[in-house]
Amino acid sequence: YAKKQGKDTFEYYDEKLSEDVHDQLVIEQALKQAVQKNELYLNYQAQYDLNTKKTKSFEALVRWNNDKLGFVSPATFIPIAEDTGLIVPIGEFIFKKACEDFMKLKQIDTTLEYIAINISSVQFRSADFLNNVKTIIEEIGIKPSQIELELTERYIMDFGEDSIKLLNELKLLGFKMSIDDFGTGYSSMSYLSKLPVETIKIDKAFIDYIPKNNNNLQITKAIIALSKSLGYRTVAEGIEYPEQEDVLSDLGCDIGQGYFYARPQSFEDIKNSLIL
Ligand code: C2E
Ligand code: MG
Ligand code: MG
Ligand code: MG
Repeated sequence: YAKKQGKDTFEYYDEKLSEDVHDQLVIEQALKQAVQKNELYLNYQAQYDLNTKKTKSFEALVRWNNDKLGFVSPATFIPIAEDTGLIVPIGEFIFKKACEDFMKLKQIDTTLEYIAINISSVQFRSADFLNNVKTIIEEIGIKPSQIELELTERYIMDFGEDSIKLLNELKLLGFKMSIDDFGTGYSSMSYLSKLPVETIKIDKAFIDYIPKNNNNLQITKAIIALSKSLGYRTVAEGIEYPEQEDVLSDLGCDIGQGYFYARPQSFEDIKNSLIL
């Protein structure tokens, strides 16, 4: 009986597995044409200065609407784009579009400081990344200091010498750089202090339920203190309630992002909100 049950269990997982592989292939095929078919676009989420109480920047977040698959979350398709290398042309599209849109927004609100753009490690490590970025910003006339590149902690810790060299080059050119999803990776403190970044973005997982959840509160406190002592700016992501803003403000967190301020919105909506 036990054996039979074991076998059923096995068959269940087996079916689930091939279903996943099938989904993966379907997504991959559709993703190959997504850029040309104009199915990818960007949403923007406000980054709110906790001192001045003003929006100082936006984070670009990619969206994909396919005629057969409907809306597919970036959490689903970005990893597939990374596995297949499709992230390189997709990432280039995102970078260019985000820079163009920022320049348009900056004309409406001259106080905007920069645009935050997520960069996949696969894209970052691709041979032409630096040259592509340089060409695009020259074409558009945006300054490197008006761009913050978000790289996740998980990937940064896997970076070798070459990647650190590239980070240094980008910093020399004037780009801002931030460590996204901080706290979910495994940074060693000594490594962290050597990274040429200027911003640490605390992962939503630690911002959730503060101040009520004391573990999260203590971790958030420690990250902000560490970030400050190393001279970095701190961004908190996933703020949903005023209580969270209150503590983060008291702890000296610089920037807040989350549904409490604004959901990611279309370019048109952002533009209209700035005109009003
Ligand atoms: P991320 O860069 O850490 O982005 C934050 C995610 O949290 C976004 O999800 C955002 O919509 C969501 N979020 C923001 N505030 C709140 C909140 O208050 N509550 C909740 N529940 N969620 C909030 P999204 O847009 O689905 O993106 C998920 C992840 O996909 C991103 O995490 C990023 O790693 C990746 N991603 C998104 N856009 C891009 C892109 O253009 N390029 C690359 N390489 N990756 C991207
Ligand atoms: Mg991000
Ligand atoms: Mg994040
Ligand atoms: Mg996150």
